[in-house]
Amino acid sequence: MKGVKYKRIILKLSGEALAGNKGFGIDKTTIMNIARQIKTLNELNVETSIVVGGGNFWRGKSGVGMDRTTADYMGMLATVINALAMQDALESLGVYTRVQTAIEMRQIAEPYIRRKAVRHLEKGRVVIFAAGTGNPYFSTDTTAALRAAEIEAEVILLAKKGVDGVYDSDPLLNPDAKKFEIIEYKDILNLGLGVMDSTAASLCMDNQIPIIVFGIEQPENIVKVVMGEKIGTQVRE
Ligand code: UDP
Repeated sequence: MKGVKYKRIILKLSGEALAGNKGFGIDKTTIMNIARQIKTLNELNVETSIVVGGGNFWRGKSGVGMDRTTADYMGMLATVINALAMQDALESLGVYTRVQTAIEMRQIAEPYIRRKAVRHLEKGRVVIFAAGTGNPYFSTDTTAALRAAEIEAEVILLAKKGVDGVYDSDPLLNPDAKKFEIIEYKDILNLGLGVMDSTAASLCMDNQIPIIVFGIEQPENIVKVVMGEKIGTQVRE
């Protein structure tokens, strides 16, 4: 494991990260490129778990005029589609994976059981956490924070589409936006930075789980971050 900085990680992939330039759905080349990076981590014996988002299909807030809870359940189901696609991509490369869902759907995946998830990781399987936390009014960023605390992951890799770290203002709107190399959780909360929701940031802060925010346009960043290269922004105490 020479050169590997973390032994157990959670990689949070937003739904958009899987859509590539299509912006919607799943782009085969994009998902395979990400899967190859995860395979490398697996070969380096990094215990890798993944939380997938669903925004490439549906977000709760897409359901304007709908019951919020229903719209959120639709979002959680969208994450399951992505989880199965990710599993398929990884298994096509020979990486053993298990999908665990926070909402039971036993015909297609295991239910989330923390001890089982940890056992899979110890056996060298990649675990994909789907259906968010299973509760409306939460996000998959919060899911990543929750699962990281539960399985005692050392770090959350927050892979972002369209932005390569945490900035003091939206870099897409403000060309003078300044990127942080390191930022404290409380500053994310106090400055109201939109890189993650406040529930996710507080959960990480309360449990001292470091987050590394980086761009997924270069999928090789995933391995680089785990090898300790300084990429993106580190969020910590
Ligand atoms: N969601 C939810 N509870 C959770 C996780 C997700 O209700 O614990 C719903 C919520 O509607 C969210 C959608 O699932 O908008 C998709 O997740 P998210 O927006 O986090 O996906 P991403 O932006 O990462 O693609």
